[in-house]
Amino acid sequence: MADRYLHFTGTAPGRFLTGRLGLPQPAELRRWSAEHPRLEGSLLHRTAGGTPLAGLAGVLARTGLTVTGDPAAGERPAGVVLDATGVTTVAGLAEVHGALHPVVRSLTPGGRVVVLGAPLSRDDHHQAAAQQALEGFVRSLGKEIGRGRTAQLVRTVSATAAESTLRFLLSPRSAYVSGQVIEVTDTEPAAPESWDLPLAGRTALVTGSARGIGASVAATLTRDGAKVVCLDVPQSRAELARTAESLGGTALPLDITAPDAADRIAAALPDGLDILVHNAGITRDRRLANMAADRWASVLDVNLDSVLRTTDALLESGTLRPGGRIVATASIAGIAGNTGQTNYAASKAGIIGLVRTLAPRLAERGITLNAVAPGFIETKMTAAVPLLIREAGRRMNSLGQGGLPVDVAETTAWLASPGSGGVNGQVVRVCGQSLLGA
Ligand code: NAD
Repeated sequence: MADRYLHFTGTAPGRFLTGRLGLPQPAELRRWSAEHPRLEGSLLHRTAGGTPLAGLAGVLARTGLTVTGDPAAGERPAGVVLDATGVTTVAGLAEVHGALHPVVRSLTPGGRVVVLGAPLSRDDHHQAAAQQALEGFVRSLGKEIGRGRTAQLVRTVSATAAESTLRFLLSPRSAYVSGQVIEVTDTEPAAPESWDLPLAGRTALVTGSARGIGASVAATLTRDGAKVVCLDVPQSRAELARTAESLGGTALPLDITAPDAADRIAAALPDGLDILVHNAGITRDRRLANMAADRWASVLDVNLDSVLRTTDALLESGTLRPGGRIVATASIAGIAGNTGQTNYAASKAGIIGLVRTLAPRLAERGITLNAVAPGFIETKMTAAVPLLIREAGRRMNSLGQGGLPVDVAETTAWLASPGSGGVNGQVVRVCGQSLLGA
């Protein structure tokens, strides 16, 4: 669904009028394209708090951006990476201010701020206080930085383990991700043979991929080299076949809630599976007082129970290979709650519980399990939302606009990458830093 307001504010009369009226002026986001695969401008690398993260300079150099310590006079950097992993005191936090205050205004529209922090110490409460302070700092900066710019915190002890994450956050692929805190564990990263085709040789299954976000996920995984199996309900057979065919993939018409769904998936993938994307989802909104049991049951079945059942079965049968990646779909409604969505929010919060508990257990098999939590994304699902609520949903985030399916797809592709082995058990919101939820 077209966001006419966004287009209007992109024109000279629109900018003038909305400026005079004090209305929001969302910036047009620059997303990845083959012609514009990188941010345009240099990358500033700064350090606060003394001990820098080993190997970070090399990782940043490999992003393809020109890395500098100080911008030339008049230069507008496209990104700043602040290594604050060594900040352990309030005095160290002053260095965070000192490093970013002079440059934040000069960042290009759509520019990126990435702060690197350390895991919170269990023994040193001064370190924990200083490191947790970075979270409040980054979330606030995301809210005030404007003009399509974003800010994130990545907690890591290893620059190389964080390479795939830094590449994602410092690229146009993360245009609609802001205000996130991502923890990267120190695993030996399996860097892909090619960062341009990181999923080459991998097989992916995307549920609910006849249309909407799922179709975009299937297309993005295909772009990154994966062979994709597209699954959707038999009623969407024709749309599903078109999507799969356009990607050179395979269509699997199947209701994911069918009792034999996992067996049929396993049978369709005799050589196994590397990437499992649980994207199929439904809404059946009513306030609880008006919600019949069947509305509750169908949403919980599609959005949560089928995810639990198929995940268990595909792990047990070994269909999901060692080193595999699972990406499930939560929602900001599952974090913040939403009127009329007790069923939907319960199902999406359940996904977060699943991710937190199962992910660490999968780590020993080299498998990761993460969730994307979309905010307002322009799809058929949100087109059905009444106009005023839809307009509020679009604007109530730091970027002042709804996201596109491709924003969720890019985030999924990053989590699915072999290089993202250190990203496990995370819930990453793709919501333009929505005002709803943490
Ligand atoms: P959509 O309705 O456009 O697409 C969902 C797809 O899932 C459809 O093709 C549908 O046929 C399929 N599906 C539904 N039930 C199924 C079943 N039992 N078996 C197999 N396939 C089934 O929705 P979308 O907006 O693309 O949403 C995709 C996912 O993202 C969902 O999990 C949704 O809850 C989540 N999400 C979307 C938004 C948003 O703003 N659009 C926000 C938060 C979360």
